[in-house]
This record gives sequence, C-alpha cells and structure tokens, in this order.
Amino acid sequence: MADRAPTPERQLAMVFDLNKCLGCQTCSIACKTLWTDQEGMEHMWWNVVNTLPGDGSPRKWMETAGGFDAEGKSRPSVLPTSEEFGVAWKYNYDEVWNSSDTVLSKDRDTKWGMNWDEDEGAGQWPNNYFFYLPRICMHCTRPACLEACPRTAIYKREDNGIVLIDEERCNGYRFCAEACPYKRIYFNPQRKLSQKCVLCFARVEQGVAPACMRQCPGRIRFFGYLDDPDSAVYKLVNEWKVAIRLHPEFGTEPNLYYVPPLAPSRLTDDGEIDESQPRIPDEYLEWLFGPGVHDALNILKAEMEKRRNGEPSELMDILIAYKHGDMFGGFTNDPGVLDRKPDSVKTGALNSPKTRS
Ligand code: SF4
Ligand code: SF4
Repeated sequence: MADRAPTPERQLAMVFDLNKCLGCQTCSIACKTLWTDQEGMEHMWWNVVNTLPGDGSPRKWMETAGGFDAEGKSRPSVLPTSEEFGVAWKYNYDEVWNSSDTVLSKDRDTKWGMNWDEDEGAGQWPNNYFFYLPRICMHCTRPACLEACPRTAIYKREDNGIVLIDEERCNGYRFCAEACPYKRIYFNPQRKLSQKCVLCFARVEQGVAPACMRQCPGRIRFFGYLDDPDSAVYKLVNEWKVAIRLHPEFGTEPNLYYVPPLAPSRLTDDGEIDESQPRIPDEYLEWLFGPGVHDALNILKAEMEKRRNGEPSELMDILIAYKHGDMFGGFTNDPGVLDRKPDSVKTGALNSPKTRS
C-alpha cells in the first residue's frame, strides 16, 4: 500500500449549495460529453446527482464504509458491483419511431441507475421532502484511494491538490474503488483500469473552471483555492462556515463542501405552519453532515432574515452569485482559450507522471 500523500502547496476546493440545485443533470452531461464518452466508459458518471433521501449510486454507497476510522486506520469496505452503479441501457427508439408502440421505455432488465430514486424522497404529504446531492471525486486531503493502491498509481498534485490516477501505472486491481468511502471510482473493462473525475485539470491549468461548474444553470458550484481569501470558496468555508463536509467521519478530509439544505416549514393537517419540528429530520442531516450542520443552517437562516428585513448580507450576495465569474476564484477564462483539445487529454497521455509536479 502507498504512503500518505504529502500536503500540497495549495489545495483547490469546491462548494456546492444544495439549496439551489435543480436536479437538471447539466453537470452530469457536461462531464459525460467531455470525459467519458469513449468505449468502456458507457456506464461511467464521474459526476452524479442523486436524490436524497435515497440509496444513491452505487446503491447504498453511504453504508459501505471505507476511508479511515477515528484513529486514522483504514476501514474495511466492499467493491461495488456494476449493477449497483447502474449499467448503461438502451431505449426502444426504433419501436417508438417505426411501430405503433408510442411508449419510450428502457431495457426492463435494468435494476438500478445513477438517479434511480429520482424525486421520491421521504415523508408524507404535505410534509414530504427531498433534495439533490451532486457528487464528484472530492480530491481529498487524505485520499483513501491513493493509500490503497499497491502500484502507487494514484497521486495528489503538489501544485493544486488534484488527485489523479496515472493510467500508465494502473493495473486495474480496484483496491482504490473499494477504499474510497465516497465510491467515486469506476472500472473501465475495455482498458482494464480505474478511472475517475480529474477535476478538468487541463482546463484548470489554463485558468478555466471545470466544465460541471461553469455549465451549472443553478449556479450552485463554487471553485477556487482554499487559501485564497478573495475566493467565494474561502469565504463560504472559512469565514462564514456555512459550507461543511459530507460524512466528515469518513476521515479522508474531502475538499468538496456543501451548503446544507433548508426546507419549508412543516404544515399541520389544517394547513397551518407548524414550527415545532423541522421538515427534514435533524438526525438525518446530522448523519449526513455531522453536528456542525445546525450551526451552518442557523447562520443561513439569520442571514436570510436580514435580507428579508432589507439589511445587507455578504453571505446572501455570495450565494445568489449575481456575477457568474465571481464563483470561480479567478478561474474565469473562457473555454475558447483552451489550446489542448479534450481528445488529447482523454488518451491519458496528459494524465501521467509528467504532470506530477
Ligand atoms: S473521493 Fe474517493 S476517489 Fe476521490 S480522492 Fe477521495 S478517496 Fe480518492
Ligand atoms: S447542473 Fe447544477 S443545478 Fe443542474 S443538477 Fe448539476 S449541480 Fe444541480
């Protein structure tokens, strides 16, 4: 197994505001068309948007352990099956186009998919609830995937903290996919190697924010260096402390932070507002984000109230994201400046030891 990754000079980080996600999957498609549209990658969604409460993808991933325990020792886990991730399926386009069958349906053997439990949620009307949880590799400060690899094929870039798989070294053993507690690594059966989100490193090197972040119409995704006091990421994580980690007890110190979800007040049977208990149960939010979720939600509520009363709120201004460019911590170049085509990156040629500095 590999040694612990050295601390990088700087660390890129992301903040996703769960109060603004539409569940539109534009992020998933932006990533799919840029990175995982080749043979052997049909089933891969480096970016997923799951509905919570729900089983997510791979199915029941939050219950599979992995990562590290409170003493910093590896927690055993399991390797998800391809069925748990959800296999690629085909729709009956031909029948719909050429016969009297007008119902678009998918292959009936398929049992799971990337957002299979879309919009189901939990609770009873009128107090039912759900929210979306977009997920990518968290480019952890202590990547369990990296330490689990006997080939030292996974590395954390010293200049920006992005975690990458060296495709020339990977032998497809999948210890990384098992060890990652967020289950964000896929297996490519054609090339017999593991693959995952590369945080659009070739774009980032040229000052362009990752595709999933730039293309998000909900403007939920903030990006930048965690030590840059001018970046929205820094302000949301370090100053306002409303952006917190998902399952911090997994021990990998993920660098994707979430602004937790607020929900409307509950209603009584008579349709009156019932503030005696929250719509999303406290225990559920604590299970997801740890006890710090309550402080984060209280700060959000207080700042929203200030705005309702006509007072200024820097936090609300940041979260509303009036100016798209303000979300990206200086990574505001237009993708038109890119001088490498994505295809040259997809070959893995750039994802090699040469990029390890
Ligand atoms: S989220 Fe998983 S794959 Fe990504 S760096 Fe962390 S441990 Fe590795
Ligand atoms: S593109 Fe943005 S709003 Fe749409 S699903 Fe992805 S994160 Fe949510």
